[in-house]
Amino acid sequence: MIEKTVAELSAALSAGDVSSVELTQAYLARIAKHNATLNAYITVCEKPALAQAQKADEARADGASGPLLGIPMAHKDIFCTKGVKTTCGSKMLHNFIAPYNATVVEKLKTAGTVMLGKTNMDEFAMGSSNETSHFGPVRNPWDTDRVPGGSSGGSASAVAADLCAIATGTDTGGSIRQPASFCGITGFKPSYGRVSRWGMIAFASSLDQAGALSKSAEDSALLLNAMAGLDLKDSTSIDRKVDDYTSSLNDSMDGLKIGIPRQHFTEGLSADVEQVIRDALAEYEKLGATIKEIDLPNNHLSVSAYYVVAPAEASANLSRYDGVRYGYRCKSPIDLEDMYKRTRSEGFGDEVKRRIMVGTYALSAGFYDAYYRKAQKIRRLIKNDFNDAFKEVDVIVGPTSPHTAFELGAKTDPVAMYLEDIYTIAVNLAGLPGASIPAGLAKGLPVGMHLVAPDFAESKLLNIAHQFQSNTDWHKRKPPICDGEG
Ligand code: GLN
Repeated sequence: MIEKTVAELSAALSAGDVSSVELTQAYLARIAKHNATLNAYITVCEKPALAQAQKADEARADGASGPLLGIPMAHKDIFCTKGVKTTCGSKMLHNFIAPYNATVVEKLKTAGTVMLGKTNMDEFAMGSSNETSHFGPVRNPWDTDRVPGGSSGGSASAVAADLCAIATGTDTGGSIRQPASFCGITGFKPSYGRVSRWGMIAFASSLDQAGALSKSAEDSALLLNAMAGLDLKDSTSIDRKVDDYTSSLNDSMDGLKIGIPRQHFTEGLSADVEQVIRDALAEYEKLGATIKEIDLPNNHLSVSAYYVVAPAEASANLSRYDGVRYGYRCKSPIDLEDMYKRTRSEGFGDEVKRRIMVGTYALSAGFYDAYYRKAQKIRRLIKNDFNDAFKEVDVIVGPTSPHTAFELGAKTDPVAMYLEDIYTIAVNLAGLPGASIPAGLAKGLPVGMHLVAPDFAESKLLNIAHQFQSNTDWHKRKPPICDGEG
């Protein structure tokens, strides 16, 4: 049962074939068996999860219903959870307990989900491999010597290995889509502003967006239905109608215009990944879509622009960790300055410190125009490129990552790690919705296909993803760790 999608579990729950308590027990047993290897969860909430499941079963017996009622899920440890540790993968917050739930957590709780626990992540969501977590690296269930991608690697590994039915993640430059690609699952990042950021620990506020790591596009639609919407506590959340994202999943692909960016099929893309994507595109053609090459002429500037804008915002957001208000404080400081310095030196890991330094530099008087303002101008050019492309096509498709999951420890140069997001990062700079869906295997490892739609065209994007999944079974392939289990 635990390998099933949310949609299937939901049907089984309403038919009375299984109870939420039984499902929750099955996932907890699975976590107990595999988490020591995968390290996908930082915190497991055994007792509260069983109590929530019990409540969901009782509510159902009283006549309540809903697609997420009683569904066991996980939250990335970047979302504040009342009474349960929220670490953001950092020593700085290793013992932080939030006094409130993030809006996303609250909404999913109201929808009746059961929280199994909090998933591992790169420290403050900075990374592409989950190796920067204070709580140790996460492993990829397809090959435990390889990374799951990052920063939502814990959520991706947990969903892929059936350690939960579905999980939340966040995506600032690719952190939902790239781990989804590496772990062979569906990752969905909505448009900027579609989902509230309140209670989601801030990394780069103009780029961060919450979304789903799931076993199908349909499941992402179900989660988005419950997560999306205006939140007065987040001034960047949008006052715009929330669609029923499941209602157009079955729309026809006939006449769909797919754009493939020339810039995403150049050197740097591994040949076997390219082949998988080309085969997947042929599948869309069979369904009635037409394919044309398009240009995103400023895409090559996206990583550079991001690594000015994101660290600049991070340096401001992370100034709140001063040893006074949250989490870690150094031992026996001699004075206030010593406390600030040592708290931050001891509490943050290397990558976070690197970003704070780069960001502070980029924002400093004398350098602001040369770096920050210039990066913002590039951001506008990138947005304009997408606007032009969407005059010609309905969706942009390409690889999510240039390659499949790499080995732990393989990338030690920060810039090599930054280039991981070469295909995904522009989407965040432009605020667009994007998804990664399993498109095939290369040497036994999953390959993700990246889909990008115009602003707030989430329904269309999920429809396009769902149609691929209705006609192929790549999203149903399971990592070897799942062999003979279920
Ligand atoms: N890999 C990118 C970074 O390290 C993106 C991370 C993210 O999307 N949170 O910043």
